[in-house]
Amino acid sequence: MTTTRMPTFTGTLLTPGAPGYDDARRVWNGAIDRRPAFIARCRHADDVAAALGFARRHDLAVAVRGGGHSIPGWSVCDGGLVVDLTAMKEVRVDPSSRTAVVQPGVNWGEFDAAAQQHGLATPGGEISHTGIAGLTLGGGIGWLSRMHGLACDNLIAAEVVTADGEIVGVDDATDPDLMWGLRGGGGNFGVVTSFTYRLHEVGPVPGGVVFFPGERAPEVLRLYRDLGAVAPRELSLVAVQVTAPPAPFVPEDLRGRPVAGLSAAWFGDPDEGERVLSPLRAALGRPAIDLLGVLPYCALQQSVDASAPWGMAAHVKSDFLDELDDAALDTLAEHAAQRSHPASHVLVRRLGGAIADVSSDATAFAHRRAAHMTTIVGVWDPGSDPASEIDWARRTWASTRRLACGTYVNHLEDEGAARVREAYPVATFERLTALKTRLDPANVFRHNQNIPPSAG
Ligand SMILES: Cc1cc2nc3c(=O)[nH]c(=O)nc-3n(C[C@H](O)[C@H](O)[C@H](O)COP(=O)(O)OP(=O)(O)OC[C@H]3O[C@@H](n4cnc5c(N)ncnc54)[C@H](O)[C@@H]3O)c2cc1C
Repeated sequence: MTTTRMPTFTGTLLTPGAPGYDDARRVWNGAIDRRPAFIARCRHADDVAAALGFARRHDLAVAVRGGGHSIPGWSVCDGGLVVDLTAMKEVRVDPSSRTAVVQPGVNWGEFDAAAQQHGLATPGGEISHTGIAGLTLGGGIGWLSRMHGLACDNLIAAEVVTADGEIVGVDDATDPDLMWGLRGGGGNFGVVTSFTYRLHEVGPVPGGVVFFPGERAPEVLRLYRDLGAVAPRELSLVAVQVTAPPAPFVPEDLRGRPVAGLSAAWFGDPDEGERVLSPLRAALGRPAIDLLGVLPYCALQQSVDASAPWGMAAHVKSDFLDELDDAALDTLAEHAAQRSHPASHVLVRRLGGAIADVSSDATAFAHRRAAHMTTIVGVWDPGSDPASEIDWARRTWASTRRLACGTYVNHLEDEGAARVREAYPVATFERLTALKTRLDPANVFRHNQNIPPSAG
C-alpha cells in the first residue's frame, strides 16, 4: 500500500539551545559530539515524511536515529536534520500468529520484555539498550541466531518512508527486492517506521559464563574453537577476553585483572543443558569464576549491559573469519593482553547454524558461511587521549586479517567505501546499488554505511 499526500509535522522540533536538545543529540558512543541544526522527534510515519520534506526544501543533510548505537555515530549529524524515532515506542505482540509489530524507537530490552510475556522472542542484540532498528537493518547477530537466524531473517514486513516521502507497506509479496535490501543493507533505502517480526518460543535458558585467569587465554580460545566446531545449533558460544570487575563473585586476586572466559547459552531441551555446558566447567579444570545457571531470557539479554554503558567512548574493529588456526588464537590472546583500559575487550563469536541455512543471495546480509566473528573494542575515558586504545584495537584486528572473509556492516566504524564493500560480496553490492538507484537516486540517506546510487 502506498500513501502520497502532504503531511504535517506533529512531533517535536528541537533546535540548538532548546530544552532537551543536548540530551537528544547524545548517542551511545561518548566519543561522538555533533550538533544538528534540527532534531525532528517524530511520532508516526507522517511526521517522518514531513521531516524529510522539510530537509529537502531547505537542502539539509539527513541523519536517521533509532536506538542511537551506531558505533561511528551515523544517527547524528553536524548541521542538518536528525529524523529522531526515539519516541516511536509501540510493541504489539500477537501470540496467536507468533508475530510482533515494533516501532523503530524500541530497544531490545523493551521488545524482549513484551515478547517474553508470551514466552516468545526473536533473535536480537546482546546489549538490551541497543535499538531494534539499526541492528535489524544491518543483519542482527545475537544469542538466538544459531538457532533461529539473524534478526533480519525474522523480519517479515515493514513500513518504509521513502526519500521522496511516500509511506509504503512492504513484504515479500509486494516488494521482494526492497525486503531483500532491508535484510542487511542498512538504512540506505528509506526510514523504516514499523518492523514486523516472526517470534519463537523461548523459555528459561541454561547458560552464563565461566572465567579463567587471563594467562590461560590460549587454552580457553582453543576450547571455544573445538567445542564450537561440533556444537549443535542450540548452543551459542562466545570467547571473551575482558577485565574482571571488582564484584563480590570475583576472587580478590582476580579483581581488576585480565580474565578469559567462555560465554554460552543453550536453547535446546532444558534437561540437556547441564550436560551440554559441562565441558565449560570441566575441560580446563575448575573455572576461577563460575556463573553458569539457568536464566530467564530477558536476564540473559541484559547480562552484559554493564560492559557497554551509554556514554562509553569506544572504537570497534571486527571481521568475519572462516577458520581459527592455533597461530590466530595465540595472536588474539597475546594482543588482548596488551589492552590498557579495563573496559577494552576482545570477543570471538561462533556463527553457523541457522545463519548458514539461508543462501547467500537470499538477503543483503550475505556472509553466511563465516564460522566466527571477532569484535575488538578499544575504550577510553571521554576527554582523554584515545590514540593508544584505538591503535591497540587496530593492531589486534590486523593480527587475524589474513583469515578474514568479510565484515559485518553494523560493526564498521567510518572506515571508507572499501570497507563497506567488504560487508557485501560483489554481486550483492551491485544489487544493493541498483535498489538504491531505484529508491534513493539523490542519496538522501547517505549519513550511514553508504551504498551510493549509480551516477547518471
Ligand atoms: C553496545 C553495543 C552493542 C551491540 N551489540 C550488537 C549485537 O549483539 N548484535 C549485533 O548484530 N550488533 C550489535 N551492535 C551493533 C548494532 O547492530 C549497530 O550499532 C546498530 O546500527 C544499532 O542500531 P540502533 O538503532 O541502536 O542505532 P542508530 O545509531 O540509531 O542507527 C544505526 C544506523 O541505522 C540507521 N537507522 C536507524 N534506524 C533506522 C530506521 N528506522 N530506518 C532506517 N535507518 C535507520 C541509522 O541512520 C544509522 O545509519 C552493538 C552496538 C553497540 C554500540
